[in-house]
Amino acid sequence: LAEKLQDTFAKLKGKGKLNEKDVKSALREVKMSLLEADVNYKVVKKFVNKVEERAIGQEVMDSLTPGQQVIKIVNEELTDLMGGERSELTSADSPPSIYMLVGLQGSGKTTSTGKLARQFKEKGKEPLLVAADVYRPAAIKQLQVLGERLDVEVFQMGDQNDPVDIVKAGLARAEKEKLDPVIIDTAGRLHIDEELMQELQDIQEAINPTETLLVVDAMTGQDAVNVADNFSEKLDISGMIMTKLDGDARGGAALSIREVTGKPIKFAGMGEKLDQMEPFHPDRMASRILGMGDVLSLIEKAEKSIDKEKAKDLERKLREDSFTFEDFLDQLDQVRNMGPISDLMGMIPGAGKAKQLKNMQLDDSELDRIEAIISSMTPEERRNPKVINGSRRRRIANGSGTSIQEVNRLLKQFKQTKKMMKQLSGKGGKKKSGFNLP
Ligand code: GDP
Ligand code: MG
Repeated sequence: LAEKLQDTFAKLKGKGKLNEKDVKSALREVKMSLLEADVNYKVVKKFVNKVEERAIGQEVMDSLTPGQQVIKIVNEELTDLMGGERSELTSADSPPSIYMLVGLQGSGKTTSTGKLARQFKEKGKEPLLVAADVYRPAAIKQLQVLGERLDVEVFQMGDQNDPVDIVKAGLARAEKEKLDPVIIDTAGRLHIDEELMQELQDIQEAINPTETLLVVDAMTGQDAVNVADNFSEKLDISGMIMTKLDGDARGGAALSIREVTGKPIKFAGMGEKLDQMEPFHPDRMASRILGMGDVLSLIEKAEKSIDKEKAKDLERKLREDSFTFEDFLDQLDQVRNMGPISDLMGMIPGAGKAKQLKNMQLDDSELDRIEAIISSMTPEERRNPKVINGSRRRRIANGSGTSIQEVNRLLKQFKQTKKMMKQLSGKGGKKKSGFNLP
């Protein structure tokens, strides 16, 4: 997949900008690659359309090739598709929190139960593991061994009792002994069957778990997606644990699962050992699916370097006193693309330390209003704000749907900023001279 994509993007390299043809041909190959990586067809289609829509006509950042620009968009959209932010485990309002693990046989439920217990134990919690798999021979024993190793209590009632009764009794035990959380290891089957689903539904109804986590095996690719789809239709699944991502599993399943079920993947199993489970990070997974770690870090660097170039340019303008509202508008665009204005200011030598800049913290809606005000100015006004008199201020306020006060404030801010930054950028500073005698 990585090679394929790299090929594709290499083809785009050196072209002037992202036109429809470039983007379309690149995405045709992306589509093939994603399908090869076992991403669900519907997901691929939706994904490709979304990226296309976003990519065509988009400005290519100065230091990026069009190909890199597309990679950037693809990577961002992949991350987005997997939920964007990392999704934490929910805990109950009043303890104990109850986590019920479900999934097919061999997906890694029992192992993940142990891994979860270990993580809670590390945080100073005293979990209780409940052995509710009464079908698989040695399932209870397996959990007991894990419990011993972790020094965590395991509740079991043998294999002759109803799982619902076992779970209820386990919960009672946890409440009595103040154990928290309760982690329930349930039975699986080789395939989805109605009897199992009914049993799991009954358990859910009886104890109302804080989270029901579906454990899926990444190695099973597209099957994992079908399993996830099926389970989430019949049970109230709150999130997923994807196991065996340490193998050469094609990350494609992670992408599809999130999209098909709408439920977040919360953990990634990275090996058989109990310390080998990590929080699931959509951005890292996206990079993995793309298989382009190197290219992505290159893009990051390039992005940083263009910031520096623009900052230098900005510094020069400030020094020459030619900084205008046009530049300001340009800066606003950059700010939107890059994050907090304070970061941008941090790139101007000396400016990062200025206390006054802390007052310039702007939020998005303020940015919108400022942009509206500047957009309502004539080009001449933007270059030379001194010409903006009272009636022009009223006209600008009307045109931008803001108030005269806001226009005044911006003009004042602009003037102050300019003055301040001019000082900071060195013009007002004293130069050292070798001829100064004591
Ligand atoms: P269960 O039937 O769902 O309870 O599955 P188990 O927890 O018994 O796991 C089945 C097999 O998968 C065992 O051999 C585990 O060691 C293995 N396993 C579970 N999670 C992972 C993982 O993240 N990576 C790898 N490589 N193996 C795993
Ligand atoms: Mg098991």
